[in-house]
Amino acid sequence: MTRPLIFEISRPGRCAVALPDLDVPRSELPEGLVRDDLPLPEVSEADLIRHYTRLSQLNYGVDIGFYPLGSCTMKYNPKINEEMARLPGFVNLHPYQDEETTQGALFLLYHMQEFLKEIGGFAGVSLQPAAGAHGELTGVLMMRAYHLDQGDTQRDVILVPDSAHGTNPASTSMSGMRVVEIPSDDRGNVDLELLRAACEEHSDHLVGMMLTNPNTLGLFDEHIEEIIALVHQHGGLMYGDGANMNALLGIARPGEMGFDVLHYNLHKTFSTPHGGGGPGAGPVGASERLVDFLPSPIVVAEEDENGDEFYYLYEPPKSIGRVKSFYGHFGVIVRAYTYIRMLGAKGLRRVAEHAVLNANYLMSKIKDTYKVPYDRVCMHEFVCEGRFHDAPGVRALDIAKRLIDYGFHPPTNYFPLIVHEALMIEPTETESKETLDRFAEALLAIAEEARTNPDLLHEAPHTAPVRRLDEVRAAKQLILRWERE
Ligand SMILES: *Cc1c(COP(=O)(O)O)cnc(C)c1O
Repeated sequence: MTRPLIFEISRPGRCAVALPDLDVPRSELPEGLVRDDLPLPEVSEADLIRHYTRLSQLNYGVDIGFYPLGSCTMKYNPKINEEMARLPGFVNLHPYQDEETTQGALFLLYHMQEFLKEIGGFAGVSLQPAAGAHGELTGVLMMRAYHLDQGDTQRDVILVPDSAHGTNPASTSMSGMRVVEIPSDDRGNVDLELLRAACEEHSDHLVGMMLTNPNTLGLFDEHIEEIIALVHQHGGLMYGDGANMNALLGIARPGEMGFDVLHYNLHKTFSTPHGGGGPGAGPVGASERLVDFLPSPIVVAEEDENGDEFYYLYEPPKSIGRVKSFYGHFGVIVRAYTYIRMLGAKGLRRVAEHAVLNANYLMSKIKDTYKVPYDRVCMHEFVCEGRFHDAPGVRALDIAKRLIDYGFHPPTNYFPLIVHEALMIEPTETESKETLDRFAEALLAIAEEARTNPDLLHEAPHTAPVRRLDEVRAAKQLILRWERE
């Protein structure tokens, strides 16, 4: 049923607000401040509420349903995080206040650094970067600064596997370095022989390697120690893309595997909201070798004569400088801190265990129907093919769109690039067995439809407010303003 837009139900004189009596002297607005040509709608409060509530119902989010968007870790965001981030003591702070008056906030930042050091096995952490991709840029700049500090001025090559997230080559080239792509082997690992060859070829120019482990196929690289040793042997450093930390929490520490620098996506692993381009946070952890290069400021603690801790800002001696104004995205850090404190060490480990269990459970339910090209025990996500040999016209996009009719957010599709018609599924730990069962049933039903009624898939979604969009145009030419026809 289509309802009239708020602009169409406007009637002169209707008003949705009752303003309080004026308690300041009345004065005229400056000429030209209010435009007469703006046709602002005049509606009642009920009309206004219905308008915005209806709009909100056109949206899909983790608070509405299952959201298995691979690589994005769309877990449920506990509401206590929001309550903590809204505490007046936090929201009313000003970033220019003196350290003496912001000890509570600095305490939180300091302990967040400590938690992330412990979780990742690193010597130091900076909370500055605004997102994962920003952490990557920060890490590459730190690696470059390290080589320059060693007098190695010619190094400009970063190795990136072909399964990498698009931000990896993008942030590497933004930093001015050259990207050299390393193919994967038939088990979904980095191809060790080709890596060895690339290390030898670029030995003098090697800045390092950027690697996601578990990788974007949801697989833990079986040669992680050899890979890191090889890169180190050639004088390179190891950058870890920590977007997949949800699989490792409390179980394995990238710092101990030999990574020199890694970003955490607080908005993935640590349950702060993301999507829609909203703020995230991508703190970076650094090994002993790189701590001095971390972006400033870092929060450090000192005991005073009474044994009380005092927190203050510190600039590491060889810091690459600031990568973000003030302290990074403080509100996001408060949410992630709350999440860590609510779960504790044991709880975090259970997160990883359940994330991995859920992904393997789901994979085992559908893999006889949807081909899993790298068929081994997965970590927190897996990638299958969205195509069937006996339904040649059906593509991953059709399956993704049909899932909307079944009430699910589609998985990531067409990524990673090395899987044909990829569907990348990440259930996360916050989903119940019943939800996973319903999702698997939907996928199996869709596979059946692909054979018996492929047009149903080609024309999907049938139940959404809009049908198939030109997604590139929709993203590039957003129309955010209603216009009278
Ligand atoms: C999400 C993601 C990134 C980028 O992180 P943002 O916070 O979105 O910038 C990098 N690598 C992988 C594997 C990711 O999933």
